[in-house]
Amino acid sequence: MVSQKICPKCRSKDITTDWSDTMLGKPTLSKYKCNKCGYESRIFPEVG
Ligand SMILES: [Zn+2]
Repeated sequence: MVSQKICPKCRSKDITTDWSDTMLGKPTLSKYKCNKCGYESRIFPEVG
């Protein structure tokens, strides 16, 4: 089972992972962006 990020604002599951920060060797600092409302955060809730 793969966990799915969900947007805290609009509940969309259409989330893009922004890996730009991982180029610095810090994979835990990856960001996520909602493709529906444009919300960006490092912390997105997950649903199972
Ligand atoms: Zn959203």
